[in-house]
Amino acid sequence: MSSKSFVYVPPSEPVNNKNVKISQLCELCHARKAILKRPKNMQKVCKLCFFHVFETEIHNTIIDNNLFYRGERVAVGASGGKDSTVLAHMLKLLNERHDYGIDIVLLSVDEGIIGYRDDSLATVKRNQKQYGLPLEIVSFKELYNWTMDEIVACAGIRNSCTYCGVFRRQALDRGAEKLGINHVITGHNADDMAETVLMNILRGDVARLEKSTAIITKSKGSPIKRSKPFKYSYQKEIVLYAHYKKLDYFSTECTYAPEAFRGTAREFMKNLESVRPSCIIDIIHSGENLVLKKKDASQTKHGATGFVDGNRCEKCGYLSSNKKCKACILLEGLEANRATISIENDSSVDGAARVMRQLEHMSF
Ligand code: SF4
Ligand SMILES: [Zn+2]
Ligand SMILES: [Zn+2]
Repeated sequence: MSSKSFVYVPPSEPVNNKNVKISQLCELCHARKAILKRPKNMQKVCKLCFFHVFETEIHNTIIDNNLFYRGERVAVGASGGKDSTVLAHMLKLLNERHDYGIDIVLLSVDEGIIGYRDDSLATVKRNQKQYGLPLEIVSFKELYNWTMDEIVACAGIRNSCTYCGVFRRQALDRGAEKLGINHVITGHNADDMAETVLMNILRGDVARLEKSTAIITKSKGSPIKRSKPFKYSYQKEIVLYAHYKKLDYFSTECTYAPEAFRGTAREFMKNLESVRPSCIIDIIHSGENLVLKKKDASQTKHGATGFVDGNRCEKCGYLSSNKKCKACILLEGLEANRATISIENDSSVDGAARVMRQLEHMSF
């Protein structure tokens, strides 16, 4: 794999179109008619130049950050949504075009959300055939004996994304481990990343802020690394790419809306973007350039508890940097809630809030 970034080269020898006004011409090839304004920089481009420049930017991100090595097996976290569908398509295309020499597998998590995940998994199964890639599905039910629908029925909708996020993260790790793969690639895009930076700033969550702009992350206690090749790709451009390439993706929102704080941060980002499109990349760059004061090792939770990489959860035996993994803590709370509910047939909000408070005190 070459370590040098590619510069822009028009996708084909453009033929000057005499019938198109100069103001309507693509600003890259100056020959074909522009059909869209890039949301990222408002540049007017033709369809072919958009494909080429978008694919080249992602290739450059992969090369500049040494995301893969030749012969590496990687799992694409595939949900059937626009981001992961474009990701699977893009990695297959770039792997063939630039000969990365990687072996791609689709890895999906079935959270057990009727009317949402069952339909989106049907899309992933079609993608598997369209791209000719192997597919592995791991489910919450099989790993934890709970579906998300059961969790929401028991613990309420308020913290559904917290449960879902913790369980899905571990489920992806477990799925990758089962396949003998230690690199999971996710479709997180620039909007997601800017939104996370903003949320961490607003919450004063310094520990997470530090990691939130990393393109490759590895959590303590887990052998699986994660990477985000779409870190600099705007969500709107991913949607445009999927649309013009006629990719088969699932666009319905999850039945359980994102938590209120994330939803508000998302709205806020969208408003900022409408007056200043570059703010998404600017927030990411700000996050990348933040230099945080280093903590004294004795002040950190790890320094205090003595837990190091390679520790295992005392309950399920899975790798965890705490005594019990986050999934087991949540499962205990759920089991307690289920018992309470069956006795009292009452609301479970108090129990869920208690578990959330417990999670906040754990190290990440
Ligand atoms: S919106 Fe929340 S509950 Fe639904 S899939 Fe996403 S994280 Fe899970
Ligand atoms: Zn063009
Ligand atoms: Zn555990």
